[in-house]
Amino acid sequence: MSRLYVAAVGDVSQANLALALECVEQEFQLPVVGLPAIAEPPGAFDERRAQYRAVDFLLAVVRSSPGDGKVVALTERDIFIPMLTFLFGQAQLGGVAALVSAARLRQEFYGLPADAAVFRRRLRTEVLHEGGHAFGLIHCPDRSCAMSLATSIQQLDLKQDAFCAGCRRALAERIREFRGNEI
Ligand SMILES: [Zn+2]
Ligand SMILES: [Zn+2]
Repeated sequence: MSRLYVAAVGDVSQANLALALECVEQEFQLPVVGLPAIAEPPGAFDERRAQYRAVDFLLAVVRSSPGDGKVVALTERDIFIPMLTFLFGQAQLGGVAALVSAARLRQEFYGLPADAAVFRRRLRTEVLHEGGHAFGLIHCPDRSCAMSLATSIQQLDLKQDAFCAGCRRALAERIREFRGNEI
């Protein structure tokens, strides 16, 4: 059975997990199952940067994959790779694991008052983005498309929590292949 899984890495609120699960269910049109929380990989914390290594987190997600689907995981930790200041998320292109970090999606992170609607839209956008990568989608030149590359919160906020028509078509094709593979 081709399915999608949603999981927390470490502590994530039920509300945010439910939000991610609902988003995955709506946008990828596949059965979605919640997984038990994945333990934070030991040693992923970088003392000097006070951030967590994204690769370690992604590998922990891969290791926790039940093997018959893709896993979209959520963390509250601020994640990075060495060449970048931070990441909103990371995924294996066409692989089994996608990871979204909620750490920089809240207005409070930028010293602004909390805004649940803004947080929700950003989380949905990044779930679509990293989930899209797991289905093999690459970055989209349309700045308003969820698959557009965002390296700042300003760029993220130019995006809608939806795919452009081209990406939606490409994704539908990948989902058909994914379903077909496992019959
Ligand atoms: Zn990307
Ligand atoms: Zn697009």
